[in-house]
Amino acid sequence: MQSVSPPLKGDLGGLSYSGGFRGSPFLKMKNTSTTKMQERMLTAHFSLREMCASGTAIRLGIKNEPSEEVINRLQQLCEHVLEPLRQRFGVIRITSGYRCERLNKAVGGVKNSQHRLGEAADIHVSNIEVGRKMFRYIKENLEFDQLLFERIQENGACWLHVSYRETHPCPPCLGREFHVRRNRRQAIDNYVAPPRLEELQYEY
Ligand SMILES: [Zn+2]
Repeated sequence: MQSVSPPLKGDLGGLSYSGGFRGSPFLKMKNTSTTKMQERMLTAHFSLREMCASGTAIRLGIKNEPSEEVINRLQQLCEHVLEPLRQRFGVIRITSGYRCERLNKAVGGVKNSQHRLGEAADIHVSNIEVGRKMFRYIKENLEFDQLLFERIQENGACWLHVSYRETHPCPPCLGREFHVRRNRRQAIDNYVAPPRLEELQYEY
C-alpha cells in the first residue's frame, strides 16, 4: 500500500530537524566508521544498527548505510512512534527499517516505499490479537503517516508497517496554515500483501 505515497520531489526531510533530542550526546557522534555509526542510539531504546539491519543485505553484500538526512528521519520515527509504542507494549522487534534502493529492490519492496527514506518500519507481531492492539494504539494515540496491518494470506504471516514524516511549515509567504508535507494518518487494518518468498516476508 506504500504505493499511495507520492514521489517526494525536492524532499525536505533533513532540512529542519526539530526532534526532542537536539543537543543530546547521541547527535554529536559524528564518527563515520560503520561500526561506530551503527552503535549510535537514535532514542533511548532504538539503535541505528537495529533500524538498518537486514538479513537480505548481509546475504547479498549490500551495505545499506543511511545518509545523515535519512538518520534524522529514522530518529523522528523512533521518537514519535516506536518509543511510545515500546513504552506501552514493552520490547518490540523491528524486522525492517531503512532500506537503500538496492535493498528495497532485492526484498521486493514497492518502488516508492517510505523505507527508502528512513520514514517507515515493519514491526513483528506475535499474533493477530497483539497486532490489532498495537494497530489500535498507534491509530488512536500517536502521530503517524501510514499504518498498515499487513498479512500474507497464504501463510498467515502478519506484521505492522508504520511510517512517520516530519511536517514542514512552508515559507511565510505561502501562509501559516499551509504545510509542504503532512502526516496523512492513513490506517488500513487488513492490507493483504502480495505473496513473497518466505525469507523476505518481513521485509516489506
Ligand atoms: Zn514496511
